[in-house]
Amino acid sequence: HRHIDAATTETIVAAVATKDTHPVIADYKELAAYQAEGGYDLLRACLKGERSADEIITILSDSNLRGLGGAGFPAGRKWSIVRDQPGPRLMTINGDEGEPGTFKDRVYLEQDPHRFLEGTLIAAWAVGCEKAYIYMRDEYPGAITILKREIAKLEAEGLSVHCPLEIRRGAGAYICGEESAMIESIEGKRGLPRHRPPYIAQVGLFDRPTLNHNVETVYWVREIVEKGADWFSGQGRHGRKGLRSFSVSGRVAEPGVKLAPAGITIKELIDEYCGGMADGHSFKAYLPGGASGGILPASMSDIPLDFGTLEEHGCFIGSAAVVVLSDKDSIRDAVLNLMRFFKEESCGQCTPCRVGTEKAVALMEETVWDKPLLEDLNRAMRDASICGLGQAAPNPLACALKYFPEEV
Ligand code: SF4
Repeated sequence: HRHIDAATTETIVAAVATKDTHPVIADYKELAAYQAEGGYDLLRACLKGERSADEIITILSDSNLRGLGGAGFPAGRKWSIVRDQPGPRLMTINGDEGEPGTFKDRVYLEQDPHRFLEGTLIAAWAVGCEKAYIYMRDEYPGAITILKREIAKLEAEGLSVHCPLEIRRGAGAYICGEESAMIESIEGKRGLPRHRPPYIAQVGLFDRPTLNHNVETVYWVREIVEKGADWFSGQGRHGRKGLRSFSVSGRVAEPGVKLAPAGITIKELIDEYCGGMADGHSFKAYLPGGASGGILPASMSDIPLDFGTLEEHGCFIGSAAVVVLSDKDSIRDAVLNLMRFFKEESCGQCTPCRVGTEKAVALMEETVWDKPLLEDLNRAMRDASICGLGQAAPNPLACALKYFPEEV
């Protein structure tokens, strides 16, 4: 109800326009440069019928490419499942990248956007999706500007006729990185996760069968098809397969996105890819999968980092957001901070998560933690929450109780 005069409105509009149209953008590979090195040759071959969808799906399945947004579902299998559903089918790309500590999608989008766009268009062609919605977090104005600019060029070249691409901007809600909440948000509703079944592969966006992928998953499609399934699957370590883009932050000498073999251990990741620990810090603990993937002590630094390897320790790799903590960090403070985050971001739809996270924060703010009560609360949240946010919210707390009892 505040009065805003015309001049103020003009200033606000100008400020918003400046933000939208002139974010800081570093050099990136534009369409001409991407095409000069063979970009879109594969998509063109697919559209001309020189490659078959079956062949591409087989290569992806053999490569062991997994969903890199966190769940790790095999990509080739997902393509087959959605393709078997009755049309019309739709595609969604999850560019929300809201997991604390994750920034790989942003780096790839801001360096080589067409590798992602070509992968998206190939996936849509193989699965028979009529339209793709790219859901981008609004905190990435640079990536959004680049995508808008480059999608316009693709349209001018007629490369997206089989699957028009539309960008939808998120509004800063962590829960909208959960695929069904993201779909609600794209539909123009509040981002509340849906009950499953039905899965979105059957009943997804606008009630249509929907192929949903994280940005990085489709980013790899072209290279895997060109270089072969063995190129990708042959790169793991300690018995694991493939490559992972670790977003490494915290007390290391050289943080950043590290493309490393799946199954690498935290010790190897820090020593071989991050220049060791930062000066004056000694390795104490690490978060293997962002806020929700739990927290482990340095003494457990020989576990292969991959899907399925951390679960027995109460953790998971998720989107491979690795946060390294040192002797200068308090585990108690770190896990309280994470629980406050979940409390803040809970969508409020179900009681175990809405009330559980709030109650946990209150108990963790006490000088002495009530361990039996916190463990009860953890169990209720894990067993009875609707979606992954509430189910995973207890992970850091449970790890702190288990691995750092002297600190909490
Ligand atoms: Fe919402 Fe939390 Fe329930 Fe998920 S678990 S639906 S975020 S209240």
